[in-house]
Amino acid sequence: MQQLAGNLFIISAPSGAGKSSLIQALLKRHSDMHVSVSHTTRAPRPGEQDGVHYHFISVEQFKALIAQNEFLEWAEVFGNYYGTSKSTIRDSLAKGIDVFLDIDWQGAQQIRQQASTTKGIFILPPSLDELKQRLNQRGQDSNEVIAKRMAQAHSEMSHANEYEYLIINDNFDTALTEFECIVLAQRNGYHSQVCKHTSLIKQLLAKSAN
Ligand code: GDP
Ligand code: ADP
Ligand code: 5GP
Repeated sequence: MQQLAGNLFIISAPSGAGKSSLIQALLKRHSDMHVSVSHTTRAPRPGEQDGVHYHFISVEQFKALIAQNEFLEWAEVFGNYYGTSKSTIRDSLAKGIDVFLDIDWQGAQQIRQQASTTKGIFILPPSLDELKQRLNQRGQDSNEVIAKRMAQAHSEMSHANEYEYLIINDNFDTALTEFECIVLAQRNGYHSQVCKHTSLIKQLLAKSAN
């Protein structure tokens, strides 16, 4: 993928570490940032809306989209399929909107191969006990699903070293500030700024007649 005006961020974490909460809190502060809405074969949780939290589809529909080459990446996570569609991301990035991908490590590896300028942010909980407590407190998954997610936490965390940034989500406000600083620093990177302000920079650097 060529360098576009917007920045692409991959956010991964063991389930319950707080990535959705951090992303939603940052989006409230910035209108020029989006989160990519994935397709999934998982059943909606209470309160989850189709097209807002995920595009909820059947396994047959998901397989048809794979065959049509519609996904930038897809993976099987906790026994369900999840995937990121290509078109929406490209359109947002071209408009200068920063895009967050809330995806697992398998999807992150696929994205890095296609978009080398992507930056990865990994979120860790302050402890395993706290992680379990957050999954329980969220109150949206059955005990069986929570046990499955806790069992996968170590495997997900073992990929943290593949990411450029690491945030420990202990105090939420501190973690949110760290997240915001990373994103804002990245968007002021030289190449990103040149893409966004091409004509201004050309104008300022053009040799003037006087
Ligand atoms: P939560 O984010 O842990 O609350 O749980 P979800 O059910 O929303 O997500 C389950 C897993 O699937 C997480 O590891 C996500 O990062 C991952 N995931 C979600 N969407 C995508 C996607 O589009 N692609 C990939 N590869 N993984 C995804
Ligand atoms: P993820 O998207 O990584 O699965 P969520 O954002 O859904 O995680 O967070 C899991 C639960 O933990 C939610 O109920 C959320 O309100 C809570 N939570 C997130 N961050 C913190 C924090 N720093 N301190 C206490 N609770 C938190
Ligand atoms: P949940 O079922 O709790 O919404 O998501 C579980 C996990 O799936 C999370 O860790 C989330 O990051 C991951 N996930 C969600 N959407 C995608 C996706 O499109 N691709 C990949 N690879 N992982 C995803």
